[in-house]
Amino acid sequence: MTIHLTHTGVLAGQPFCGAVRDEEAQLSGEVQYAHGVYAPIERAEYRAHCCPACLAVFASAWDEDQEKPHWVFAVLNHHATHREDPRQQELFA
Ligand SMILES: [Zn+2]
Repeated sequence: MTIHLTHTGVLAGQPFCGAVRDEEAQLSGEVQYAHGVYAPIERAEYRAHCCPACLAVFASAWDEDQEKPHWVFAVLNHHATHREDPRQQELFA
């Protein structure tokens, strides 16, 4: 099961990763959609079910001068270790 994190506001319900909503997969329980800002992303066991692309978009959208919750670092670090460009790894180190 994958949880896509979605926008609120004008794009309400659209996944951060840009995936098209699949209502059939949702009905069968394969995917879920959750508003990113309200989802309990700080829980590692919840994050483990989240779409990695949605998490990456959400984590990188955090403002530089805004205090980041620990899950943002967890996602960015995880993301950085999977990058191929070593210069980008430095940025996230
Ligand atoms: Zn997604």
